[in-house]
Amino acid sequence: MPKFDHGDHQRRQVLLTLIVITFFGGLFFGTLNWIRGITAAALIEFAFALFCLGAFWLVRTSRRLYRWSLAVTIPWILAVWLIVSMPAAAESVFIWALVLPILLMLLLGRRLGLCLSLVSLAGALLIAIYRFGLPQDADQIAYAANLVIAGLVIVALSYVYERSREKAEQGLRHLAVTDALTGLPNRTLLYENFARAKALAIRQKTPLSLMVLDLDRFKEINDKHGHDVGDRVLFQIAELLRSRLRRSDLVFRMGGEEFLVVMPDTDLDRAATLAEDLRQRIAALQMEFHDQPVRLTTSIGVTEMTSAEQSFDSLLRQADQNMYWCKENGRNRVRASRAETSEARD
Ligand code: GH3
Ligand code: MG
Ligand code: MG
Repeated sequence: MPKFDHGDHQRRQVLLTLIVITFFGGLFFGTLNWIRGITAAALIEFAFALFCLGAFWLVRTSRRLYRWSLAVTIPWILAVWLIVSMPAAAESVFIWALVLPILLMLLLGRRLGLCLSLVSLAGALLIAIYRFGLPQDADQIAYAANLVIAGLVIVALSYVYERSREKAEQGLRHLAVTDALTGLPNRTLLYENFARAKALAIRQKTPLSLMVLDLDRFKEINDKHGHDVGDRVLFQIAELLRSRLRRSDLVFRMGGEEFLVVMPDTDLDRAATLAEDLRQRIAALQMEFHDQPVRLTTSIGVTEMTSAEQSFDSLLRQADQNMYWCKENGRNRVRASRAETSEARD
């Protein structure tokens, strides 16, 4: 099953790069400050470099990327504030404040990234005002305005960049889990979604049922009317399922002309009634393509989860068995049964 950790992968790379830069930066500035006799700053920088050394190995495999991002970026903000507030620091160190929005947005996402960017820039601005006072002449105003405006431009650009990156990622994710023909979810997230529905059913002590629908003699529709018409029929069936089922029901196109419905809070009787209604609606669908009427029927196998031990695969097997029974017994039918009992409704 594909994993959708593209965004995570990207963030991990950015974080690792930042950690490497911070490690060497810490060593460099630590040594420099040590030589200059600013021991406290040097020790903090060495400690941070050491932290980065450990973080580098852990971040490569950690699943808590967000926490690690916070653990690295918050000290970065504090370090920038500390550096710009040091009396010995040159005015040029304020440039470092401009780096913050980029790394905050890339690592923490646009919302928290935007908040922390504004906080960190406001902090640096206050420190600057505290150190140098408000700009007095035109030169100083131009100098300050350049820095402030550059800061805001960087915040705006990195925010827009992060937003479009998140949108593109969402789009890709949607494409990967959606069947292009019907717009229904494909089977990619089936196990995950079923596990969630099962956990909820167990927690809330509610029934959970499953149905498998397979269109009857669909090959004949393709053969008689063309593959293009077959595709349109599949879309119509998907539309019918979408409109008839509840929002809480999960519908998947399993592949070909087979659909699966997971029905939370639905016992076998209700699921069988629903399946029967769907069977009738599909049989009654009056479709017409290229002035040719197209009729079709469906065979539906239904089952209900009876114990928490039942896996998705065993439930699917039971629903499939019931569906195949319908195929062998004339098609256009519904059969519903629980896994352990032999009694069946059809
Ligand atoms: P049965 O009643 O036993 O289910 O017969 P069937 O013809 O429906 O079953 P079979 O498995 O023999 O054929 C399934 C057909 O579904 C064959 C394949 O061409 C068609 N099919 C599968 N996917 C698509 C699709 O995306 N579009 C179209 N048009 N046809 C598809
Ligand atoms: Mg079929
Ligand atoms: Mg089939």
